[in-house]
Amino acid sequence: MSTAMKGTEAAKAMKEELIEEVEKLKSDGICPCLGIIRAGARPDDLAYERGARKRMEMTGIACRVFELPQDITQEAFEEAFARVNDDPGIHGILLLRPLPPHLDEEPVKAMIHPWKDVDCMSGTNMAKVFAGDETGYAPCTPEAVLEMLRYYGIDPEGRKVTVVGRSMVVGRPLAMLLLLQNATVTVCHTRTKELAQTCREAEILIAAAGKARMITADMVGEGAVVVDVGINVDEDGNLCGDVDYEAVMHKAACISPVPGGVGSITSSVLAKHVIKAAGFQNS
Ligand code: NDP
Repeated sequence: MSTAMKGTEAAKAMKEELIEEVEKLKSDGICPCLGIIRAGARPDDLAYERGARKRMEMTGIACRVFELPQDITQEAFEEAFARVNDDPGIHGILLLRPLPPHLDEEPVKAMIHPWKDVDCMSGTNMAKVFAGDETGYAPCTPEAVLEMLRYYGIDPEGRKVTVVGRSMVVGRPLAMLLLLQNATVTVCHTRTKELAQTCREAEILIAAAGKARMITADMVGEGAVVVDVGINVDEDGNLCGDVDYEAVMHKAACISPVPGGVGSITSSVLAKHVIKAAGFQNS
C-alpha cells in the first residue's frame, strides 16, 4: 500500500515556518503585504482569491484586493496596475488570470517590478529559474511540487525524474528546478514516443498534462513516487488529476491525491514569496 502525500499536511508544516518569518519581519517594523489585482469576478478567480487571502491571513501577511471592472480599458488597467506596482506598502503582486479577453497582459508582465513578481509573470524571474538564480521567484505550482517532495523526505538528487508536460507555467520551470536539485530529468509531451515506457522508468513521476487519469498503472514503475499536478473535471463532473489514483496507488510507493495534493500547497508558496519580497524590499 502506498503513502498518500497530502498537500494539506505539507502546507500545515510550512505554516509554522511562515508565521515565524512574518513575526521576525514585524519585529523589524515590516508588515508584509500582498496586492491581488482582479478584473471582473470570474468564479474561478474568486475561489483562488479566497484561498490566497485565507492563507495570507493565517500567516499574518496583509492582503489588499484591487477589484477592477470587467470591461476596464487597456489604458485604465495598465494605470491601475502601475499604481499597485509603485505602492511601497505592497511587497508582492498577484494578478488573477486569465484576464478578460479584450485585455493584453504582456505590457504589465514587462512593467511589474521583478522583486514584486511573486507569481513569476515577468521574463526576468522566469530567466532566473532557467539560470538557476535563486534570487527570483519560481512559479508557485512547480515550487509546490518541490515542497511536497521535501515534506515527505524525498530527495530528487541523482534520481530519474520524468515530468509529463512542458508548459511555461508548470512542466518547463519544474524541470529546471529539479535540475537545480541535481535530478536527472526527462520531459515528456504530446510528441513523445514510448511515453508509457519513459514514465515506467522514472523513480519520480510528475504528471502535469491536464488530461484526466491519463497515467495508468502500466505507466508506473513498482515503488515509484508519483506526484499529480493535474486538475481536471471528469465525465461525471468530479475533480480528478492526471493519474488514475485508484489503480496507481497499488504500485507507487507514494502518490499525491487530487484534490488535496499539490494544489493545497501553492498558496503557501505564494506566502513564502511575499515574505521573501518584503525582506528584499526593506534590506
Ligand atoms: P497546458 O495545457 O499548458 O500544458 C499541458 C502540457 O502537457 C503540454 O506540454 C502538452 O504537450 C502535455 N500533454 C498534454 N497531453 C499530453 C499527453 N496525452 N501526453 C503527453 N503530454 C501531454 O497545461 P498546464 O501546464 O497549464 O497545466 C497542466 C495541468 O496542471 C492542468 O491540469 C492544470 O489544471 C494543472 N495545474 C494545476 C495547478 C495546481 O495548483 N495544482 C496550477 C496550474 C496548473 P505539448 O506541449 O506537446 O502540447
